[in-house]
Amino acid sequence: LAHRLDGIPPTIFTTMSALATRTQSVNLGQGFPDVDGPPEVIARAVHALESGANQYAPGPGIPALRQAVAAHQLRHYGIELDPDSQVVVTTGCTEGIAAALLGLVNPGDEVIVLEPYYDSYVAMIQMAGGVRRPVTLRGPDFRLDPDELRAAVTPRTRFVLLNTPHNPTGTVLTREELQAVADLALEHDLVVITDEVYEHLVYDESEHVPISTLPGMFERTLTLSSAGKSYSFTGWKVGWATGPAELVGAVLAAKQWLTFTSGSPLQPAVAHALDEAPDFPTALAAELRAKRDRLCTGLALVGLDVRVPEGTYFATTDISSLGWANSTEFCLALPDRAGVVAIPTQGFYDSDAGMHLVRWAFCKDMDVIEEGIRRLA
Ligand code: GLN
Repeated sequence: LAHRLDGIPPTIFTTMSALATRTQSVNLGQGFPDVDGPPEVIARAVHALESGANQYAPGPGIPALRQAVAAHQLRHYGIELDPDSQVVVTTGCTEGIAAALLGLVNPGDEVIVLEPYYDSYVAMIQMAGGVRRPVTLRGPDFRLDPDELRAAVTPRTRFVLLNTPHNPTGTVLTREELQAVADLALEHDLVVITDEVYEHLVYDESEHVPISTLPGMFERTLTLSSAGKSYSFTGWKVGWATGPAELVGAVLAAKQWLTFTSGSPLQPAVAHALDEAPDFPTALAAELRAKRDRLCTGLALVGLDVRVPEGTYFATTDISSLGWANSTEFCLALPDRAGVVAIPTQGFYDSDAGMHLVRWAFCKDMDVIEEGIRRLA
């Protein structure tokens, strides 16, 4: 392997899903729903396949999808975008992250990331030649401490890579927490790259605030999202980057050499979803809220300390109460011991603050969640 991959293990999601298949476990690990998104959106993709949308789409994405993304940002957040220069379609948010980091980060640039971090951030910061500076979200509620954030800034800091609602903790950053990030970005001339794929999956009183809507932040924020989580099409790999033309242009500059363009037949279907099924994500969140509650109640009954998430489709538990100290060992033993797969959060930390934390997905059929709990019990 090339040195740019030094120390980067295979993604935990592949490892754990393969383990789930091999052991016929209930898979509460990798976050993908077991019910697909709206049938009429699938029909639209089939129609596109059959009516000849099978050759390269334009590099930045088809105009209808870029317009639909711009309309979505306006409808939900009051953000006005020029679909031609301020929206680029990516192959899932994962490509958006890769293209953003490859297109913007210079070797030696420091990137502040929230810890625990999604695994692709670490891999891509390293592949881009950057240096990560983790700032730990402190339990039990995984909050961002403005002083720790401030202390992470050095003369080489150029970026903050944000994620809200946050995977794996389920934290939805508050306006105050985001303002602390914005203050720092404005003071030190930082660019914020923000992964907001769980933007619609928020519960109770929590509200998703895009940091680009804070005063002075639009100009320095690149926002990434996708149809995978909002419309339950994780396998379609259709995402988008939005923001000022300069930052979106950097994504396109790298993306053209990564994938050149994203899948043609899925783009009109996702445009259709955004335009014609704007309420689907809210309905999905309402279903997920009941599943969250069922899973969290069950995990607590089994004897785990549960942090009920404000957003995403993941709940985090502390396994110390069961006498375990190491979440990787716990998650590797669990399929054989109980026939259930979960994700060790330990791997998303540089520090040892996540040694005893395990993530459980609840984007599953209620029956699957019930069976998982029954097995754990
Ligand atoms: N985002 C999903 C999760 O956190 C997994 C995506 C992946 O497997 N790369 O579970």
